[in-house]
Amino acid sequence: MKFRNFPMVPRVVYGRGSFEQTSEIIEEKRNKEYPFIFLVDKVFESKELSKRIPLRGKDKIIFIDTTDEPKTKGIDAIRDSLKEEFGTVSGVIGIGGGSVMDSAKAVAIMMNSEGSSAQYQGWDLVKNPAVYHVGVPTISGTGAEVSRTCILTGPERKLGINSDFTPFDQVILDPALAKGVEKNQAFFTGMDCYIHCIESLTGTYLNAFSKSYGEKALELCQKAYVHKPQWDDESDEDLMMASWHGGMSIAYSQVGIAHAVSYGLSYLLGIHHGVGNCIVFDRLEEYYPEGVKEFKYMVEKNSIEIPQGICKGLTDEQFDIMINVSYGMVPLWENALGKDWQKIMTKEKLRALYEEM
Ligand code: NAD
Ligand code: ZN
Repeated sequence: MKFRNFPMVPRVVYGRGSFEQTSEIIEEKRNKEYPFIFLVDKVFESKELSKRIPLRGKDKIIFIDTTDEPKTKGIDAIRDSLKEEFGTVSGVIGIGGGSVMDSAKAVAIMMNSEGSSAQYQGWDLVKNPAVYHVGVPTISGTGAEVSRTCILTGPERKLGINSDFTPFDQVILDPALAKGVEKNQAFFTGMDCYIHCIESLTGTYLNAFSKSYGEKALELCQKAYVHKPQWDDESDEDLMMASWHGGMSIAYSQVGIAHAVSYGLSYLLGIHHGVGNCIVFDRLEEYYPEGVKEFKYMVEKNSIEIPQGICKGLTDEQFDIMINVSYGMVPLWENALGKDWQKIMTKEKLRALYEEM
């Protein structure tokens, strides 16, 4: 057996208000000739946060529209325009949710890699170190701030650039930034973390490393969503740390069925990661009985509407596309159901599951 030797984020600052330290933190990494590029979720355009971004010299903000999750084409276009305008950059800082953080990781990699980002979707295909890159989450749950991947939709597949060069060089965890997220969206992204925990902790790949992080993340999710009478500042803090620990947990184990099935929805229908996971997880009592029971309780407590009927009217061909995308996620299925997973989750059973959604 070969054990994976994976990198972790080497520097992290945590605290309410810690975003103010961004300038001081990045300045020591500045190459005087080249600017810092801030990729910022468009939701912050003309908001107070954009005014607090410490621009110097030729530094530039690029606002990222997150209506769609990041695509290889969009990443290539940003890289090309930065190369044309500046040659290279001192670093890339991503301020936003999983979509913007993944975009920042991908642009940082592509500044030093030839061709299209689609060529690097997969495992360990990146050969050159990325430029310096920093992640600043503004919504909690995905674990993208700590993970070794950045998920992109390419011409052929939705798949991450998984490499030792992908993790951020620096992360700034400021729970004050996670204020103001629309209620349903905050829940869907928060549940991404909850589902990471359940899928990791019940999976066959689990080991003590993953378990230690997964249990802590689950405890923090339950504190915020189940035990507290209502959401408060401490909940924002707890969920930010839950996201981090959940990401660490799946680094050494894997996610499971909700993610494998959700990838199909996302590829064919463009359903976002968090909401897709919730749509699927809601129907997985058979596989995750305790987790799904608690999930349903949290949905009700927070008066969340989970979209229904999204697969209504799809053709056989479209169902097949989703089934094939999902079936391609072999490690996720294996983690959830073991080596004989195809006997348990037959294509017919998977089709029936999609039809219910
Ligand atoms: P997101 O980044 O798409 O953001 C969701 C919505 O929340 C957007 O409309 C955004 O504008 C809004 N938003 C974010 N912060 C806000 C704030 N403070 N105030 C108001 N609105 C705010 O959603 P997400 O769930 O964080 O990320 C999903 C993406 O992450 C997907 O592309 C998915 O593939 C990826 N992902 C990556 C990893 C990884 O390890 N790299 C893991 C899981 C998911
Ligand atoms: Zn996820």
